[in-house]
Amino acid sequence: MTEGESVLVVEDNDQNLELILFLLEEAGIPVHAARDAGEFQACVRAKLPDLILMDMQLPGTDGLSLVRELRANPLTAHLTIVAFTAHAMRGDRQRFLAGGCDGYIPKPINVATFVEEIKTWIAAGRSARPFDKG
Ligand code: MN
Repeated sequence: MTEGESVLVVEDNDQNLELILFLLEEAGIPVHAARDAGEFQACVRAKLPDLILMDMQLPGTDGLSLVRELRANPLTAHLTIVAFTAHAMRGDRQRFLAGGCDGYIPKPINVATFVEEIKTWIAAGRSARPFDKG
């Protein structure tokens, strides 16, 4: 991890959010939290994160709408976005990937592997963005 790498967690469930913030902060990963679309957009405007963990069910909107907006904007189209949802039904993963997500982490999270999974995603995102190197 280099300085400035950060994760933006978009999650309206306080218990899930607290657990994720706890795990990432304990691992020394800079993390920001957004609980709805407005907070999310303010966070992205303030600083582009290296990884977005996007809950698919949010108050007043859904994660895929926000993902579509990011992909449609040249400034944010390259961001690594991982869908985060309790939907573990067959076909969901496919739907999220088709909707512009890079990957999918089902809820409830696996506390034993979550941090490593996040680090892998951050690393994958960096290698996929050649203009960020050097
Ligand atoms: Mn939710």
